[in-house]
Amino acid sequence: MTRISWNQYFMAQSHLLALRSTCTRLAVGATIVRDKRIIAGGYNGSIAGGVHCIDEGCYVIDNHCVRTIHAEMNALLQCSKFGVPTSGAEIYVTHFPCLHCCKAIIQAGIKTVYYAMNYKNHPYAMEMFEQAGVRVEYVKVDETAINLNDTEKMNFIHTLIKRLEESGVSEEEINQWQNQSSGLFSKQGNH
Ligand SMILES: [Zn+2]
Ligand SMILES: [Zn+2]
Repeated sequence: MTRISWNQYFMAQSHLLALRSTCTRLAVGATIVRDKRIIAGGYNGSIAGGVHCIDEGCYVIDNHCVRTIHAEMNALLQCSKFGVPTSGAEIYVTHFPCLHCCKAIIQAGIKTVYYAMNYKNHPYAMEMFEQAGVRVEYVKVDETAINLNDTEKMNFIHTLIKRLEESGVSEEEINQWQNQSSGLFSKQGNH
């Protein structure tokens, strides 16, 4: 088993955060990282204490849901709320950020933007990033690396193999099953 790469690890965190999204239009997650440490995270959702789109429906104006704060903004605001510097940090987002978030990211001093999915990538965003010296990198999600079901599957296979051992199956055959099952979980990681 190989270790999960930093990019996959932080991107997995953003995908996990996206599962907390309260807007039905798009589930987005963002993770801010400094010196390989997660310093903040956010997902698109209502203001604290506000009603949720998933309960009340979206509040749509000009084809945009205005109820939610974007994941990137939420992550940056978490830093401002608690006084955590974002200068020189990196951000991992599930979707390419909108223009408003791009500007906030640049202004907060973020130096690298990693994104996993193209989403209406605006040419002006790329222009601003370039001008500000912000590096933008696409990260392809390695589904074998961040499949959260793996642990469950692995545990299930361990149980099965244990039962085989108990039922008197030869050691040779057990080893064969063991090797085959661990092959299912080996990661073709990029490091
Ligand atoms: Zn909404
Ligand atoms: Zn945005």
